[in-house]
Amino acid sequence: MHDIVIKNGFVIRPEETRVADIGITGERIAEIGPASSLSGKKTLDAEGMYVLPGVIDPHTHPVYLDSIQDLSKTAVWGGVTTVIHYAYAKPGQSQLEVIKKWKKEGQETSFIDFALHGGLFEAIKQIEELPDCFKEGVSSYKMFMSYAKLGWMTDDYALTKAMDVIGRLGGMAALHAENGMMIDYIQDKMIAEKADMTKEFLTTSPAIAEAEAIFRAVYTGRLMHCPVYIPHISSKEAMEVVSYLKSRSFPVVAETCPQYLAQTWDELVKLGPLGKVGPAIKHQEDQDYLWQSVQNGLIDTIGSDHAPKPKKLDDDFFTAPYGTPEVETLLPNLWNEGVNRGRITPNEVARITSENTAKIMGLYPRKGRLAEGSDADIVIFDPSKEWTISRENQHSNADYTIFEGRKVLGKVSSVLSRGGLVIDNERFAGEAGRAVFLPTDTGRYFRQGFVFS
Ligand SMILES: [Zn+2]
Repeated sequence: MHDIVIKNGFVIRPEETRVADIGITGERIAEIGPASSLSGKKTLDAEGMYVLPGVIDPHTHPVYLDSIQDLSKTAVWGGVTTVIHYAYAKPGQSQLEVIKKWKKEGQETSFIDFALHGGLFEAIKQIEELPDCFKEGVSSYKMFMSYAKLGWMTDDYALTKAMDVIGRLGGMAALHAENGMMIDYIQDKMIAEKADMTKEFLTTSPAIAEAEAIFRAVYTGRLMHCPVYIPHISSKEAMEVVSYLKSRSFPVVAETCPQYLAQTWDELVKLGPLGKVGPAIKHQEDQDYLWQSVQNGLIDTIGSDHAPKPKKLDDDFFTAPYGTPEVETLLPNLWNEGVNRGRITPNEVARITSENTAKIMGLYPRKGRLAEGSDADIVIFDPSKEWTISRENQHSNADYTIFEGRKVLGKVSSVLSRGGLVIDNERFAGEAGRAVFLPTDTGRYFRQGFVFS
């Protein structure tokens, strides 16, 4: 007798779909058996539903309108059961202190399990702390190749040094890969010409700046034997570089986000600053190429880049912040644009939103798969339910979404986090204080099959 049995759903793994029962005992999946074969104290009927491994979102920012707790709540509504936050250490801050503070806050307030990436805004000083930060369970560190004017940019000297240290500690560097100096010059030129910044937004976030920075990041990583993770890839030009790098087995992981797969700037421009994200969302041609890259496996992971910032339609575009609420719509958008349009299968959704991410972050097989012994992080997804995305039905504190009014087919019905229901038949049932911090081991994945020199 299990605690919970999920009955008769289409159980999805990357390599197969089968109608089965899942038996959960305590926090783990105890048994996966034939349909109608298991019994439990509680039964969740999943007939006609897809049963997916909980989404692992490798890219979240709980520092703007949504706190760690708020973000975890909007996440579970979207079928996300693990979040990996970017714990940024701004100039003058201690990375180690930020990590300790976030671990504590997450354990006390989050509704779901979490891991952390660091974020080195002053890499040259903060590198000193990395051995202690690794001991805290954080093995991936983001740096910015862009945003020089904001004082966030890591120059090539500091980047090389940081990768030397991160590589030797067995971790991974994550790079916001856009050439910051190119972008700053172009922006300055646009300002001098009094250009309409909304119209010229794509000019200030060119695909070439992204492609160049990815190439430089991965080559620096090659030199320093440091694996490189590229979040939020936005363009065809950038993916062509990734394709070349992967064809040579260089250690690079490619992430894109649903906003690049489900929106184009040509549609978004009417939302002005609300659609401002970095890198910019580009054209249909880029979106098509990103989908091809999902299909052929060049894209490894899907992150949301959830960063809801306060802004309004009529704010000044140039000074408006980059970022949008995204975590709750990640799975519905990916499903709607991917599965419903025949671009990918549910199995590929499981691979790209869960299993791949767990492997890359060193969380597998505890996370990332519907398997006996794994944590019972499970989404019951109703593929026949049509609904309309609107800020009214979203749970972020942001009062906008860039998908306002979009009809999607497929909705999260129930969600379990380590065996506990957090969404029960479209009702929130989360409990704070149950969340576990997950130490990552990003080096493990790269010890197989990648070439550093
Ligand atoms: Zn981000």
